[in-house]
Amino acid sequence: MNATSDAPKRCDTLLRGIVATMDPQRRVLLDGYVAVAGSRIVEVGRWRDCAWQAGETLGGPGHLVMPGLVNVHAHLVQGCIRGMAEGTTFEERLFGFYYPMTGACDEQRSYDSAMPPLLDLVRKGVTTTADDHFTHVHKRSIDGVLRAVRDTGMRCRMARLTINDPNAVPEPFREELDQGLRETERVMQEWEDERISVTASTIGITYCEPEQLKALWQWTVEHDRQFDIHAPAIFDQKYLAARRGWTGGSFEWLAEMGILSPNVISAHAQNIRPGEAALIAQAGARIALVPDMEQVLGLVNFDSRQYLENGVPCGLGLDGPVVAYGHDLWASLRSFLTSQRLGDQHRRLKAEAGAKWTGDEMLFGSGEYALELATIGGAKALMMDDRIGSLEAGKQADILLVDLRGETQLSPPAALFANLVYGNGPSHDAVRRVLVGGRTVVRDGEHVAIDRREAVRRSDALHETLLDEVDARRFVRMRSRFSWVDA
Ligand SMILES: [Zn+2]
Repeated sequence: MNATSDAPKRCDTLLRGIVATMDPQRRVLLDGYVAVAGSRIVEVGRWRDCAWQAGETLGGPGHLVMPGLVNVHAHLVQGCIRGMAEGTTFEERLFGFYYPMTGACDEQRSYDSAMPPLLDLVRKGVTTTADDHFTHVHKRSIDGVLRAVRDTGMRCRMARLTINDPNAVPEPFREELDQGLRETERVMQEWEDERISVTASTIGITYCEPEQLKALWQWTVEHDRQFDIHAPAIFDQKYLAARRGWTGGSFEWLAEMGILSPNVISAHAQNIRPGEAALIAQAGARIALVPDMEQVLGLVNFDSRQYLENGVPCGLGLDGPVVAYGHDLWASLRSFLTSQRLGDQHRRLKAEAGAKWTGDEMLFGSGEYALELATIGGAKALMMDDRIGSLEAGKQADILLVDLRGETQLSPPAALFANLVYGNGPSHDAVRRVLVGGRTVVRDGEHVAIDRREAVRRSDALHETLLDEVDARRFVRMRSRFSWVDA
C-alpha cells in the first residue's frame, strides 16, 4: 500500500459553504468547498469528498461561497464629485464641474478621489473593475487611480481614453493621438501586472476625430486589448448628424468604419436603431450594461434582451459615482431586472392599442440571471473568463464568502439568490472575506489595509478644495428644495 496516496492534500485556504460555482453547468453545491493554493483555485467539490488540509479553513454551514463580482464600467476618479449630478443638466455638469474638478486632480488627488468608490466595490465583494479614465490634464492622474486600485488589491482593466474633439472637449483635456498612445504605453509599462491591464480607447465617437478613433482601435487590435467606448454617447445623439454628417446610428457608424469587432465593448448601448443589435451580434462585440444609471436618468425603454437573446456577451456596470451614487454593483443587479421589466411593459403598452398593465405575466429574468451577468457574464464581457468569473479549478481565486447566519434580509435559504439580488446583496458585516487571487483583501466587512475613515476624510477635503479652485461651488445643492443654514 502506498502510504502517501491517502495522505491529505495540502492547500493554503479552504472555504466551506453553499458554493455557487457559476461553472458551465451553474452547479450550486449545498455543502461544498473551494480549495485555494497560491493565487488559484485547485479544486471545487462536495464537502463530504474533501481530502484537503489547509493552513486556514473558512466558512462552514450557513455560509455562501461565490465568485467575486465584476464591474464592467466605471470612472473612479469621479469619487470627489459623487452625487453632484442631482439638480443639473448633462451639459451643466459636464462642463461646470465634471471636467474641471476631475481635471484638477493630479496623481495624489486622483488617488484620494478614487479610493472611496473602490472601497464601495470591494467591501461588497466586487473583485474586478473596469475603469475608463479621460481626464489627463495631469498626465499622472491615471497613475493615482491605479495606485489606489493596487492598494485595494483589486483586479482592474483600465482604459486610457484619448479625447480631442473641440466641440466636446475643453482645451486642456485635448490630446493628440501620438501623445495619447505614448502615455498609454507608459502606463502599461509602469502598472501592468497579473491584476492590472491597460488599454487605449476614447469616450465616444463624437469625442475624437474619426481617423484618430480608427487608429486608436487599430492600436488595440495590434496589442490584443479591448476597445472600450460609450455608444451611443449623449453627444452622438445630439451631434452625429450636425457635426459628422452621419444620419445613421453610432453602431452603424462603427461598422461602416470597420471598427465593430470582438474586441469592442460598448457602454450603455441603449436607444439604438433597428438592425444595430444584429450588427453587434454579428461582429461579436460586447456590451457593458449600466441599468442603475439609466434608471436614475429616467430611461424608460431599457433593453438588454436584444443582446442577451442573440448571444452578445453582456456584463453589468455602474458608471461614474457622479451618477452612480452609492457605487453599489448589487443595485445594478436589481436595476438590470427592474429596468428590463419596465422597458418590456413600456414597449408593450406603446405597441398595443388599449393595452393595460396587469402585473400577472411572467416577468423577465431572475436573481440567478442577474448574478450570472455580474460574475461570469462580466468576465466574458471583459474577455477575462479564462481567468475569473467562476469557481473552477485553475481559475484565479477571486472569492466572496458571506456569513448568512445573521442576515435577516437573506432568509429563508430557499430564495437565497433572489433575496441577495433584490435585497442589494449582503450587509457589510456579513462579508467575512473577499479574496483576490487567493489574497484576503476584505475581512469581516473591512479592508485589511485601508482606513476608510481616513479615505473619506481625504476625499471630502479634496472636494472642498476643488469647489473653490475651479469655481464650482454654484453647483452644490443646485435647485435644492431645502433652506441651508450656515454653521
Ligand atoms: Zn461612462
